[in-house]
Amino acid sequence: MKVLVINCGSSSLKYQLIDMENENVLAKGLVERIGIEGSILTHKGKGDKFVLETPMKDHQVAVELVLNALVNKDHGVINDVCEIAAVGHRIVSGGDIYSKSVIVTDEVVENIKECIKLAPLHNPAHIVGINACRTLMPTTPMVVVFDTAFHQTMPEKAYMYALPYEMYTKHSVRRYGAHGTSHKFVSLKAAEMMGKDAKNIKMVTCHLGNGASCSAVVDGKCVDTSMGLTPLEGLVMGTRCGDMDPAIVPYIMKAEGLSPEEMDNLMNKKSGVLGLSGVSSDFRDIEDAAKNGNHRAKLALDVFHYRVRKYIGSYAAAMGGIDCLVFTAGLGENSISSREEICEGLEFLGIKLDKEKNNVRGKAVEVSTEDSRVKIYVIPTNEELMIARDTVELVKNK
Ligand code: ADP
Repeated sequence: MKVLVINCGSSSLKYQLIDMENENVLAKGLVERIGIEGSILTHKGKGDKFVLETPMKDHQVAVELVLNALVNKDHGVINDVCEIAAVGHRIVSGGDIYSKSVIVTDEVVENIKECIKLAPLHNPAHIVGINACRTLMPTTPMVVVFDTAFHQTMPEKAYMYALPYEMYTKHSVRRYGAHGTSHKFVSLKAAEMMGKDAKNIKMVTCHLGNGASCSAVVDGKCVDTSMGLTPLEGLVMGTRCGDMDPAIVPYIMKAEGLSPEEMDNLMNKKSGVLGLSGVSSDFRDIEDAAKNGNHRAKLALDVFHYRVRKYIGSYAAAMGGIDCLVFTAGLGENSISSREEICEGLEFLGIKLDKEKNNVRGKAVEVSTEDSRVKIYVIPTNEELMIARDTVELVKNK
C-alpha cells in the first residue's frame, strides 16, 4: 500500500510517497513559492534530483505537478496515480475537536476551518491542499493527522490558564500544544526500545529543533506539554522567546511604541537564541561562536539548556517520577554538547548520560549509563511516517 503524505504551508508543499509494505520512502520533494513569482518544485524519486521552475498560481497546480513528477517515466516511481492508495495530510491545529486522526469528510474540512483562529497561518493552507487533492484524486481516501491531537489527553489542570474562565469559553484560550505527531512517534519508539508496553512508563520527550517543546507522557498518553495556545510558549527556540513574564508584553509595547503585530513579530521572529546571541537562529552557528569566545552565544546556549533542564525537572514532579528521557529533532538528534549540558545536574533524578554512547548523531540509540535509573534515548523523529501509519490504520478499518 502506497501512501502520499502532504504537508501544506501557506506558499509551500512538502510531500513523501511511502511504501507501507516496508515503510520505505519511494519519493519525496518540496514545492516552494506557490502563488508568487519563482515557483519551484524539487523532486527526488528514481535517478537524479529533478527540479522544475514554472509558474504555479495555487496549490492545485502544485499538487498536479507533484502527481506528474511521481508518474514521470524518468524520475517517477509509480505508473499511475491510482497506485496511491491514500493521502495523509498534516494539520497544525485540530483545536479541542480532534484527539485522533480522522478520514476527511466535508464536516472535517469545516472543523479545520473552525480552528483557523488557532492556526491562522497554517490551517487555511491545509484546507487548500486537501481540496486540491480531493479534486485531483476524487476516489482516493484522505486522512488528516493533527499536531495537536496527541496533547488532547492532558488533564484540565494542565491545559487551563489562570485567566478569567470566560477567556476559555468565549475565545478558546487554553493550552493545545504542538509537535504532537513527533512526540507520539518518539514515545512509541522509546517504549519499544525499552522492551515494554508504553503502559507504566513515565517519560519526558524533548523535541529540540528550530521550534522546541517538551512533553510529559504517562502510559503512552500526553499529560502536559510546553507549547500553549500557540507554539510561542515554553522552551527558548531559534527565534521564539518561550516563557516569560506576560507583563513584559505591554511594557515593551509602550516603551518601543509597538503595535500588537509588531510585538508578536518581536517575540516570534527576533527572540530566542537569535535575539540573545545576535549571531544566528541556527544552533550550529551559535555553538561555533560560543567556542570562539562569543559571550552572548554562550549565554544563549546556557539559557536554552537551563530552560530544557527546568522542564524535565518540573515534568518529573508532575508525573511523580521519570523512567525515560528522549531527545529528538535537529538539535536533539545531533547536538552531542547540548544533550550533555541538559543532562548535567539531573543525576539526582536518576538521569545519567554516558558520554561515550552520547557521541552519536541522528541514530536511534540508548545513551544512558548502565547504572542510570532513567533510560535516555536519542530517537530521530519521523512525522511523515507517523502520518502514513495513521493513514493506513484508518483506511484499512474504513
Ligand atoms: P525545524 O523542523 O523546527 O525547522 P529541525 O528539527 O530541522 O527544525 O532542527 C533545526 C535545528 O537543529 C537548527 O537550529 C540546527 O542548527 C540544529 N542542528 C542540526 N544539526 C545540528 C548539529 N549537528 N549540531 C547542532 N545543532 C544542529
